[in-house]
Amino acid sequence: MTKYNSVPTDKIRSVLTPEENAKIPFVFSASRLKEMRESLCCGENELLLGLAQLIRPFAITPLSHFNVGVVVLGITGTAYLGVNIEFEGIPLSQTVHAEQCATSNAWHHHEEQIVLVAGTEEPCGHCRQFLAELPHSDKLHFVVDGREEVLLTNILVNPFLPTSIKIEIEKETPLTSKIDVKPEFDLSELSAQPQTKQLATLALEALERSYSPYQISQCSPAALALRLKGGIVSAGALIENVAFNPSLPPLQSALIRLVVIEHNQKWGDIEEVVIVEDPKALIHQKEVTEAVIKVLSPSAKFMYLPVSVPHHP
Ligand SMILES: [Zn+2]
Repeated sequence: MTKYNSVPTDKIRSVLTPEENAKIPFVFSASRLKEMRESLCCGENELLLGLAQLIRPFAITPLSHFNVGVVVLGITGTAYLGVNIEFEGIPLSQTVHAEQCATSNAWHHHEEQIVLVAGTEEPCGHCRQFLAELPHSDKLHFVVDGREEVLLTNILVNPFLPTSIKIEIEKETPLTSKIDVKPEFDLSELSAQPQTKQLATLALEALERSYSPYQISQCSPAALALRLKGGIVSAGALIENVAFNPSLPPLQSALIRLVVIEHNQKWGDIEEVVIVEDPKALIHQKEVTEAVIKVLSPSAKFMYLPVSVPHHP
């Protein structure tokens, strides 16, 4: 079996443009990857592992100081990079793993399926479960620096899946799937607050894309949008997991977007957050999100807007 080793990061940097070197992108298109492979005379796995090493220093690890870099390859051939993100002052359960960060990055870019995960470290059990519930996960490949390529099914045997708890699922629901949502508020009433209206609009758009094919907790889709001082905005939505805890909450999704698209991690600059979710749901993001934001940016203001989400299982 072939073992794959990363292309050294200095070699990768030698083929990046000055702009890419100044600000390492968290996304590389299929055509850009092809150019790089040709310039570096290397295979795809070696390049993806090299990109995982390249992005690793950008992990946000105030607690562990243990940086992880991950690249997920979408079915379109685009590579999405991710890092682990830790937060001071809040429980460890709020931590974002690098595999989740990269997957959320793919979700933000409307990628419908992930085919390969390349990482600087072995994926933890939490991430194996998180990834197992994504579409076509039985065909998902993993490669870790210095190791052989394996299928997820090789490293997560007898998996706990939605079918384990008798949920009828559309197993192949793409990451790009949309759900019907109905605002239970009048957006036009926010016209006097244009910045809040913008956040509400972004949160609703994100909510439609909340990846919740199982809705195990009834109407669980949720989303939020936030704005930083200076005007940068971000939005994110829940990626649900039937094993519950690996689920990626909407706040983390929005913070990931700040890191991977806006290259901004100034959590203390968050000045407004708009949360949209169904008040009839059995779970709510509102209280925990407010508690976490109060630590990250104590003066941020909140708005909670109700929506109706059909419950379909
Ligand atoms: Zn993990």
